[in-house]
Amino acid sequence: MANSESSSTLKDKPNQRTNRVWVGEVPIGGGAPCAVQSMLNLPLSQVEENLAQIQRVADAGCDIIRIAIPHASDLDFFEQICARSPLPVVADIHFSAELAIEAAKRGAAKLRINPGNIGGLEATIPVLEAAKQAGIPIRIGVNAGSLDTALRDDPTLSLPQKLARSAQQYVEFCQQKGFTDLVVSAKAHDVPTTVETYRIISRELPHIPLHIGVTEAGTLFQGLIKSASGLGILLEQGIGDTMRISLTDDPVEEVKAAWVLLGALDLRLRYPELISCPTCGRCQVDLISLAKQVEDRLRSVARPIRVAVMGCVVNGPGEAKDADIGVACGDGQGVIFAGGEVIKKVPEDQIVDQLMAHIAALN
Ligand code: SF4
Repeated sequence: MANSESSSTLKDKPNQRTNRVWVGEVPIGGGAPCAVQSMLNLPLSQVEENLAQIQRVADAGCDIIRIAIPHASDLDFFEQICARSPLPVVADIHFSAELAIEAAKRGAAKLRINPGNIGGLEATIPVLEAAKQAGIPIRIGVNAGSLDTALRDDPTLSLPQKLARSAQQYVEFCQQKGFTDLVVSAKAHDVPTTVETYRIISRELPHIPLHIGVTEAGTLFQGLIKSASGLGILLEQGIGDTMRISLTDDPVEEVKAAWVLLGALDLRLRYPELISCPTCGRCQVDLISLAKQVEDRLRSVARPIRVAVMGCVVNGPGEAKDADIGVACGDGQGVIFAGGEVIKKVPEDQIVDQLMAHIAALN
């Protein structure tokens, strides 16, 4: 079991102890690669716009998409979206067991419920039956705002312990009712609480696949840092079977960020990694501008290659010798290199175009 005392790396402990559940054709848990999720942010009545947004996140590498169903009047739209979505759709339900039951009948590939606000454990029973009938899993998503009173007021427990205990109670109830196709999340908006909560749940419920995330993480810059720090810690410890990076931004940014994080941890690779130096007094070009141009052009490359943009010829090729390809810039020119060896000199105004041409020529 992963724990904070372990000195092994994540590659030594793939997360194979959790059960495997299927969301459509996407596996979660049981050693499957960490699945990338995002959530639509449009009213369901905008069916075409929602489908366009699903296509955009799918193109960016999203595995599973979630949609909130606020009202019964949204169910017809939900059904239409599910029927045409290229990704499996998770129905996000609050406050109404009836909505969850209907969503299961109308094409949801998974339900996300919080028994704490759906009417309690007994009200959950028909939802479990509907999910079983539809052959779909349920994510139990607990949060601090809907803990039951006894747990919430227990002075002997920390917030992570309360969240974990709540998740455990719900899971045990579902299992007693014969429903085991479960995923659990227990997110908080601060990183230490999130990390500690998931550590406890992973220890107490080692076979339950975990959906990890720092909720309400904020706008792009802050949200990326909070999510990367929290989820990075968890993933490094082998905790997390599926993830959403929650941003106040375009859902496509959530998906791209998830891939960058998974790539940085060497867990799943999809996009190029840009290696660019911070520059120093040896740099004689506008490297910030050059690196941003390369970054922009790499957005159309969906291959996991390492591309270096370095500020000087003296140290650049050596410092980035593990890059698949790179450029080191000097006075009015750049040298394109691969494996630390120079392969071509190009004028400064051709650096980006030449570098991209060499990237395109790579197998
Ligand atoms: S590559 Fe050159 S310019 Fe960039 S930080 Fe290193 S020494 Fe400085």
